[in-house]
Amino acid sequence: MIKLVNLRFYGGINEIGGNKILLEDNGTKIFLDFGMSFSRRELFFEEFLMPRSANGIGDFLTMNLIPDLPGIYRRDLLEKLGRKPEEPTVQGVVLSHAHADHSNYVSFLHKDIPIYCGETCKYILEAVDEQSQRNIENEVLNFKKRPIYKDEYKNPPIERKFNTFRTCDKIRIDSLEIEPIHTDHSVPGAYGFIIHTTEGAVIYTGDLRMHGAHAHMTDDFINAAKETKPIAMITEGTRINLKKTNESEQKVYTESKKEILKNKKLSIVDFNFKDVDRFTTFYKIAKDLNKKLVISFKHACFLERYHKDPKIKSPSSRDEQILILKPKRLTGTYIDEDYTDRYIKKRLNYPNIIIAEDIAKNPSSYMVVLNFYYFNMLVDLKPNKSAYIHSLSEPFNEEMEISYERMHNWLRFFDIKFVQSHCSGHISGPDLYELIETVKPKKVYPIHTEHPDMFKNLSMRTHIVKEGELYKL
Ligand SMILES: [Zn+2]
Ligand SMILES: [Zn+2]
Repeated sequence: MIKLVNLRFYGGINEIGGNKILLEDNGTKIFLDFGMSFSRRELFFEEFLMPRSANGIGDFLTMNLIPDLPGIYRRDLLEKLGRKPEEPTVQGVVLSHAHADHSNYVSFLHKDIPIYCGETCKYILEAVDEQSQRNIENEVLNFKKRPIYKDEYKNPPIERKFNTFRTCDKIRIDSLEIEPIHTDHSVPGAYGFIIHTTEGAVIYTGDLRMHGAHAHMTDDFINAAKETKPIAMITEGTRINLKKTNESEQKVYTESKKEILKNKKLSIVDFNFKDVDRFTTFYKIAKDLNKKLVISFKHACFLERYHKDPKIKSPSSRDEQILILKPKRLTGTYIDEDYTDRYIKKRLNYPNIIIAEDIAKNPSSYMVVLNFYYFNMLVDLKPNKSAYIHSLSEPFNEEMEISYERMHNWLRFFDIKFVQSHCSGHISGPDLYELIETVKPKKVYPIHTEHPDMFKNLSMRTHIVKEGELYKL
């Protein structure tokens, strides 16, 4: 048999995220991730200028947000374009983790292409699915055939085929054997992969870091990868241009706790709820300072999945330290009839629900998790002279700058103290160089980075990846 292993990249090129890597071995084809590229999407689209679902994947294909490849897309979406439906030519998609820039455009893929992901990754995808409005770009777990005619709205969605794994499992997809190894990232259920091809092992890092609360998991991945004497490594490089700092989850805990303790008013915090380490940090602070941690119904969807996962050890959404903030809807009187979203309706009977007006009566007893997009709730929370812990990355593009400025206007208006306290999900430059030199692959393919040139300093051969180009291994 002729040995033929090759790689092609359709996203994550000179950009952070949007990974779509096609690996082919003797006719077996798999995708490593199939994510949404935020930067490409932002080139053309914004809040009031969206890709039209009414055009199927037409807008996405034309504007180069997804590659035009045969045998990968949904029947209904191709038919919408006036194309003939195609049988799948890819045997699987392996997801590294549940972040949208790695998983969301699975939404467009043929229903018979199986998706492989970590058990915890699936839990997170389920939580995302439960609390978001159906949209053509977030139909990862299941989808509704388009166009949806009036009488079809009630039809159940078409479920995709998911296969879940745990660390060190062995997945077989035709001639390929794939070993997922857990890594540490800002979302649980993140994996790096060792793909055993006919030419040797290919390593894919996904997103990872060395300075997080579970650095030992990344170590496990590095050690396993090194053992295989890999022929190639596909690596993330989000922060290749940045030096090592003293950031850590512990530092977020210490700094945030100090500020909250000093403040003695209502505490407001914001962090990404997909980051269970960050949740644990603020849950611990709330416990230490005897405050109730107030979350939203959307957060409850995540917390309930984490709680189901014995490895994560998260509290239940009805934990005595946790309250759920009821948003003001329709009549503004908090009656049950005001709530139509399913994820809220099914939780209205929880015993630990609170409204903003009650928090305002005794503000120092609470720590509210509140994202900027819900800042209109500050009107009811009356958070005068509060502390606000922004536990997210600082803005890195123009649109974020504008929101950030607006966020500061709210904070100034209510005389709230702003505190930045965060720890990145991505590995620093020096740590990444060390990681790659330790694993010692023959060739390196940097993606998920705006600075692929900086990988030229490595001792091994580095390919500056071009979109769609064929790389033989
Ligand atoms: Zn990413
Ligand atoms: Zn990520």
